[in-house]
Amino acid sequence: MIRIKPLPHYDCDVLIAGGGPAGSGLAFHLASAGVKVIAVESGIFPRDKVCGDGVSPIALAELANMGIAEAAQFKQANEITRVGLFLENDKVSIKLSKPEHLPYHARIIPRRELDNWIYEAAAGAGAEFLLGTRVTDYAINSEGALVYLRSKNREFTLRARMVVGADGGRSTLARRMHGAKPQESDQLLGLRAYYKNVNGPTDQVDIYFNDSGFPGIMWLFPKGPHDANIGIAMVAKTFPKKPEHIKEVLLAHINNNPDIKRRIGDGIADDKIRGWPITIYNPDNRVSDERIALVGEAAGLINPLSGDGIQYALLSARWAATTIVDCVQRNSFTRQDLDAYAHKVKREVSYDFALSNLLVHVPRNKTFNRVWLRVLTSMISQARDDGAYADTIAGVFEGTYPSYKAVNLSFILKSLTQFGLGAGRDLASTMQNPQQALLSGTELAKDVFTILEELKDNPRDNISWLSGGLTQSASVLAHLVKTLDARSLKNILS
Ligand SMILES: Cc1cc2nc3c(=O)[nH]c(=O)nc-3n(C[C@H](O)[C@H](O)[C@H](O)COP(=O)(O)OP(=O)(O)OC[C@H]3O[C@@H](n4cnc5c(N)ncnc54)[C@H](O)[C@@H]3O)c2cc1C
Repeated sequence: MIRIKPLPHYDCDVLIAGGGPAGSGLAFHLASAGVKVIAVESGIFPRDKVCGDGVSPIALAELANMGIAEAAQFKQANEITRVGLFLENDKVSIKLSKPEHLPYHARIIPRRELDNWIYEAAAGAGAEFLLGTRVTDYAINSEGALVYLRSKNREFTLRARMVVGADGGRSTLARRMHGAKPQESDQLLGLRAYYKNVNGPTDQVDIYFNDSGFPGIMWLFPKGPHDANIGIAMVAKTFPKKPEHIKEVLLAHINNNPDIKRRIGDGIADDKIRGWPITIYNPDNRVSDERIALVGEAAGLINPLSGDGIQYALLSARWAATTIVDCVQRNSFTRQDLDAYAHKVKREVSYDFALSNLLVHVPRNKTFNRVWLRVLTSMISQARDDGAYADTIAGVFEGTYPSYKAVNLSFILKSLTQFGLGAGRDLASTMQNPQQALLSGTELAKDVFTILEELKDNPRDNISWLSGGLTQSASVLAHLVKTLDARSLKNILS
């Protein structure tokens, strides 16, 4: 007797956990290609998400390709053409230039609206959504993925050919796939408050740095003429451990910094301060395996330097869709098949994120805070007089340029020259009269003594920071050597 194995029943080809920009973006691309998709979202649209609401030109280009830029609401979204950088007494306002291949300047779009547009586009393309439902677990075997779900009234399972984790910075699927939650060193903490009745300029985002908020940035992003998103993002693990509570740092900044006070004016908070962790890229973590892939922040796809995550959520959704459509057509979902997506992610982001991770790791050591802030001061001075230099800084923060623009040789030389001039002036006066320098408290002399004291008090933390920095530098160099041919190397150095 011939035994015929029954064909497995599938509820869909692809089950996506999470309906943010990554999940709904992927659902849009797959459904548009005729793939049967179910996207499972624990919230109910329209829903809020803690974010700075800054949508970069690259993200806007992705939205335009999905037809979302045609919507009237999109056209009304607040456009940003300038970035203000503020550091204690130094400030600069930089006009953003727009690369020709990108159709729009950055915009500030509250996530309640943005995510709803992408969700509606995906549903319009034919993706099915289960809202108010959580993915709690999954099991993979050679025939498919069994996904465990929980909604208000019931627990149930669905069977798919493959499953995708698009469930953000606290991803359940990533934790299960990697067998551990993200390390503290791979996390930033973000807080956001909405303010109403603030002052202009409407087209300028402001970014603030100060001693207690460092290593981290604070921002004011105008949502329109009267409303703003105000927040802070800071690395979770510093050396020595930061004594300040991040919410108090933000409140002290709002209450005391004259520049943000001027912008807030008579404005008042419209909502309570809300926080969310940001999980950054760890190249050791897989982003795909047999019958599973991770997209967006579940895969750590966020630039730790600029905080841009929306553009990588949308980009990774498109990259994953290309591989998954191919897998569905061939009905083959092996680790090797899905490696095509993993390789694309590595090619596109690994060097840029390795460099950004290094630039975030270095100031993690608060012992050198005054030195890092001085470097920023000198960068702001340089940006005031040099348009091309200012453009690079603004472009990195706006998410228009990859961070490796910042290691452009001429950029580094200009930064060092400017920094050297300031430090050189201090050094000269210290050398001429060291005792007087100490008594009168020359900045450099004070900094050197503070650093020596702290190195003495925390040798273990400082050694661990140094070895982390060396590992990150080695990974940047390894990427450079592995991924760049002579021509691209020439581009970076030019
Ligand atoms: C304070 C702060 C400020 C930021 N500012 C910016 C900014 O200005 N610009 C920018 O580009 N990026 C910013 N980011 C980063 C950005 O918010 C994220 O990178 C982006 O939201 C990632 O999109 P995503 O779709 O991968 O994940 P998310 O947007 O987090 O979406 C994940 C979705 O999955 C759902 N979900 C979670 N778990 C489950 C589950 N188990 N089952 C079903 N559904 C689930 C959630 O409800 C959510 O809707 C900021 C982040 C923070 C915290």
